[in-house]
Amino acid sequence: MSGWILEAIKGSSFKTKLSAMKKFFLEKSKVEDLTKCSLCPNMCRYACPVSIVDGKETTSPAGKARIAYLIKHGYIDLTTENVLPLYYCLSCESCTPHCFFQFNLSELIRPIRVEAIMRGEYPKQLNNLFDNVMNFGCAFGEVEKEENETNNRGDILIFRGCVVRKFYPELSKIATEVIEKLGYKSFMIEDEICCGYLLYEAGHDEYFMKIAKMNAERINRSGAKILLTLSPECTYTYRIIYPRYKIKMKPRVMHITEFIKENMGKIRFSERKERIVIHDPPKLTISLNKTRILLEILSEIPGLKVLRPMRNGKNTFYAGVNNLLYWIDKELLLEINRERLRELEEESNIIVTASPSAKRGLEIAGGKVYDLVEYLRDTIEGVRD
Ligand code: SF4
Ligand code: SF4
Repeated sequence: MSGWILEAIKGSSFKTKLSAMKKFFLEKSKVEDLTKCSLCPNMCRYACPVSIVDGKETTSPAGKARIAYLIKHGYIDLTTENVLPLYYCLSCESCTPHCFFQFNLSELIRPIRVEAIMRGEYPKQLNNLFDNVMNFGCAFGEVEKEENETNNRGDILIFRGCVVRKFYPELSKIATEVIEKLGYKSFMIEDEICCGYLLYEAGHDEYFMKIAKMNAERINRSGAKILLTLSPECTYTYRIIYPRYKIKMKPRVMHITEFIKENMGKIRFSERKERIVIHDPPKLTISLNKTRILLEILSEIPGLKVLRPMRNGKNTFYAGVNNLLYWIDKELLLEINRERLRELEEESNIIVTASPSAKRGLEIAGGKVYDLVEYLRDTIEGVRD
């Protein structure tokens, strides 16, 4: 939690401090969250990847909150031009751990994005995203059908996600092999469609509901006990967003790292003598609160030196393509991915993450990145008897 209030009253007497804090806490619940954020001296901007790389006041966290506030209260019109900065957000929640109120800025300003969609005053580059999801069931466009898609049944259903289906279809086969090495059988459904994460982030509630209901129906019908997602964004969508809309998922939703972690006790790893650096995806470490999971898994491999860059865990830095900037401002997104890649490569050129989106973003920026399942495939020998 940020101590900016404490900082502001640092030199005061104990009595003044106490009275100021009391008033602050009593009053803070009465003031609208957007107002609080608009008045904040941008305390989290130094943790916000967009702010760090873009450097503009309007796309800083409090800058976006001020625009949202002005639109909400009618001081400025809701036009495509005015609303544009509100899409300069990666929904990474890097602001949250640095915020006195623990705000998730993306959630705070999302109601204005919802309103913008309803009034047709949103950046039209997003039409491409909407068309892709609604026509092809994938945010990134048409995808080839894979030969390992079956309508088999089983306990573990692997949900690939849009980035894997479009850019790294081989990752789903690799994940299947890893799960097999752990002693389980898994399957994938033929008619997988996008979970709707980016529709939600864009504020398109109508399309999101349509896709989410369709998704839940297909997955629930499969009879799987575990829904195993390769992307933390999908885990987050099924676990956190769907319940907000009262959409029930029957299987237990798990990210691949959580599944591996649960099986750690019985895995036999082979030795691997090298230095690697890990990229913690913020959706995993901040939004899903799995701060050290990647480190904990990889640290079990004998001989392996696992390094973390300066920004890690809850203070990690975003990398990826699964965000609205991919449609709104690809150049800025590339700079964000480059910034992260530079930081990671200071530690090692062997980068391991647990997010196909981060792999894609960092590889577009020029890096070579392993998703966790790729890295583990040759490292897991099997399970103990
Ligand atoms: S999210 Fe929190 S720390 Fe960031 S600008 Fe808003 S109130 Fe300040
Ligand atoms: S969610 Fe991420 S990109 Fe958006 S304001 Fe917060 S830190 Fe910045």
